[in-house]
Parts: sequence; C-alpha cells; structure tokens
Amino acid sequence: MNSERLNNVLENKIISNADVLQIYQEARTDSSELFLAAQNLRKKFKGKTITFSKKAFFNVINMCKDTCTYCTYKAEPGEEKLSMMSKQQIKQMLSLAKKYRCVEALFVTGERPEQRYQEARDWLAENDFKSTAEYLTHASEWALEEGLFPHTNAGNLTYDEMKDLQKTNVSMGLMLENSSERLSMKGMPHYLAPSKRPKSRLEVLENSGKLKIPMTTGILLGIGETPEEIIESIFAIKKLHEKYGNIQEVILQNFQPKLDTAMSNFPSTEENYFKIIVSLTRIIMPEMNIQIPPNLSPKSYQSFLSVGINDWGGISPLTPDYVNPEFSWPKIKNIAKNSKKVGFDLKCRFPIYPEFFSFISKELREKISFIEDEEGLVKEEYWR
Ligand code: SF4
Repeated sequence: MNSERLNNVLENKIISNADVLQIYQEARTDSSELFLAAQNLRKKFKGKTITFSKKAFFNVINMCKDTCTYCTYKAEPGEEKLSMMSKQQIKQMLSLAKKYRCVEALFVTGERPEQRYQEARDWLAENDFKSTAEYLTHASEWALEEGLFPHTNAGNLTYDEMKDLQKTNVSMGLMLENSSERLSMKGMPHYLAPSKRPKSRLEVLENSGKLKIPMTTGILLGIGETPEEIIESIFAIKKLHEKYGNIQEVILQNFQPKLDTAMSNFPSTEENYFKIIVSLTRIIMPEMNIQIPPNLSPKSYQSFLSVGINDWGGISPLTPDYVNPEFSWPKIKNIAKNSKKVGFDLKCRFPIYPEFFSFISKELREKISFIEDEEGLVKEEYWR
C-alpha cells in the first residue's frame, strides 16, 4: 500500500480516530487502496464465506411513541399498515415459518407503544399482557417451542426486560444509528425520538454487555451525518465491544427515502460513500461481522463483498421487510448465485454467530445443536 496508515492497519497496529478520518478523506479521491485493505482483512478473518439468517419477520406492533423523520415502519391507529399481532396470528406465523425452514423469528416492535396509545394498551389487555416486553417474552417462548430461534429488536428495553428476554433469545438487536447528539437537535431526524438519543442507546447497549447478550447493532448512513460523526459512531461500537465483548455484528444500513415521511426529498445514500464507510468499519474492527442489507442495494449488493462485508443479514422467504417495504428481499437462491459469481459461498447462520455460543444457556445451546453443522452454522440440508 502507498498509504502508511493502511499499512499500519494491515500490520495490526492500533489506528486512531484521526488516522481514520485521514484515510476517509484520501478515499474520497481514490478509494482503491482502502477497498483493497478491507478486502484483505475480510479474507484473513472471514475467508470466502458469506452468511445470512433465514428468518420470518414478526411485525408484532408498529405503533411507536417516537417519531424519526425517515421512518415508514411506524403506524398510527387506523392506518392500513398498522400491525398488532394477536397471539393466534403469532402462533400461525411461527408454524408457517417452521414449514419454510426459517431459523430465526425476528420480533420487531415500535418504541414502547403502550406509553402513547390507548389502542396499544387495549391490545395488550386483550392478550393478557401488561407490557409489550412481557408479550415478547411469551412470543419468544412460543418460537422456541416451534423450533425457531428468537431475536428481538424492540427499541430501548430496560435491564430487567432484557434479562427476561435473554432466557429465550439467542441474541438481540438495537441500532445505535449514530452517536452524534447533533442528530437529535431541532430540525434533525431524531429530534422527536428521545429513545434515539445516543446516551440512551449506549446505555441499553452497555446493559446488553453487562448481561452478556450477543448483540447486533449498527449505523444508519445518509441521514445528515458528517464523516466525523460516522467515524465516532464506529469507534463508540468498538469501545463497547472492547469493554464487554458482546457485539456480534455491525449492520451498515443505507438510508433510502420513503414517500410518506418528512425526509422523502432527501437523496438516497451515495454508493461510493457507503462503500467507504463499510471499508472503514472493517479496518476499525477487522474481526467484526459486518452486514449490509442486500435489498437496499438491489442492483449492486454483491459488489459490497469486495469492500469488507461478510453477512447479508436476515432474509425472509415468507414476510416483507416492514422497515423498507418498497424493497423486497432478493430470493435466497439468487443471492447464492450472485455471491458465487464473485467467489463466495453462501451459508446460513443462526441469529447468533458461532463465536458467541458460549454466551447462551445450555438449553439454548442444545437446541441449536440439533440443526448445526461442524462450523456452527445451519446444516445445509435443513435450510436449502
Ligand atoms: S425508527 Fe423506530 S423509533 Fe423511530 S419512529 Fe420508527 S419505529 Fe419509532
């Protein structure tokens, strides 16, 4: 490499925030060396395997007490897209997911809907639950009984709620989005979303570390952040991982404008910028599992294999991506074919990566072992 900083990265030397900013600036003119460095690190630590999780997306309740200006997932009472799944609907969907040989039951909700909406409180009462978190604890038990592995993404849960969910969830998720307070200021995307204040998010992630929960987190790119803020956000995740060792993967999600939102006129995240950030994440955390959602880059997702990713995230053969409903997931067989074309083998993982198996209970570990191959991934004959 011509870049001394990138040579330092490849020699395992510690890299500072200022170094990364310099690498970013150079990459804006010519990103080839950065991409090559990321590719080398990816190859060194992740080989030629690209993973995904075969999932069913349970849109448990999409009312939300907060408002992010880019979000189309959230629904108001009376809207067509409103979802409030009954116990029976969840159980039916679980059984269908099992038939499709899904492995992950992804449970998603808005942020504490019962704090804001009477309709959400009524829904909980009708189903005999006091809170959305309590509902999720039970839904997770049903998932396990059906032979699926729960992964809950329900916003800022408390320490005790996470401790309860930990008994059934092999991993959990909470996007950091960005560690910048500026994005919560007036006129910015998180102004009306107190749960997105970096301090609150980092506290929940800290709690997940104390509880030793394998955690998925990530960053949303293209919502008005500066390069400095993105780099700081990646370092914030690295710091958490150094402290607790429980961050199992980092999702890098590119913003795509949604028609019915305040940010509908905002441009989509520019692809080269997105790739540079993916590569920077790889050089900041060389051994991390790094994921981009293929449905949000439908024409070019396979090209991200050469800038440092090693995972496509959850793909459902059964349910839409309710967070990005206009972007359907590519068919699993097409992802396999497109990954193969550029030299990578698609394999199905559990919602927990094998390196984190020691974090979960003996009971959960045993359930995994029934359909696990010698690499700790899902047996091919099961998911294909
Ligand atoms: S992104 Fe999450 S917190 Fe923000 S409005 Fe949507 S559901 Fe609520």
